Amino acid sequence: MSDTDPDREEAAESEESGDQAGPEAGVVESVERPFTCSVCGFPMVHEAAPLRVEVSSICHNCGDWTLQTAERSEVVGTAEGIADRLAGPVLTERQALAYLLREVAGLDREAVAEVTDSSPSNVDNLHRRAAEKIEDARRVIEELNRLQPSEE
Ligand SMILES: [Zn+2]
Repeated sequence: MSDTDPDREEAAESEESGDQAGPEAGVVESVERPFTCSVCGFPMVHEAAPLRVEVSSICHNCGDWTLQTAERSEVVGTAEGIADRLAGPVLTERQALAYLLREVAGLDREAVAEVTDSSPSNVDNLHRRAAEKIEDARRVIEELNRLQPSEE
């Protein structure tokens, strides 16, 4: 009844890829990165989402549940690499970076302005443009998915 062939897609996925993990490898789900206890300054390494700037966990020095923060420059450096990959016809690199730092890392506009050498109002503009484009891209994808429902 159905002329779809699920086996064919699976076979295509298992094709051998000789590529090294370069910029095309995509965004990693988590990274190991140093965080610093905001109470006592004790350094700890956490595995966290790449743009996570704060983690709550037991500090091995305080022994308390504390807020631990990542070095901002490390998070920004990671965001720059991701923005580079996201940039294209939809988003400029600066729009992508503003969006990542505001929406994903959760930095405020002043902090983003500071690390991107920009002004808060310019960060707002970049962020707003990026959000509009991403929302529209999502709408397009959703429409297309409705036209081509994926069946298992
Ligand atoms: Zn501590």
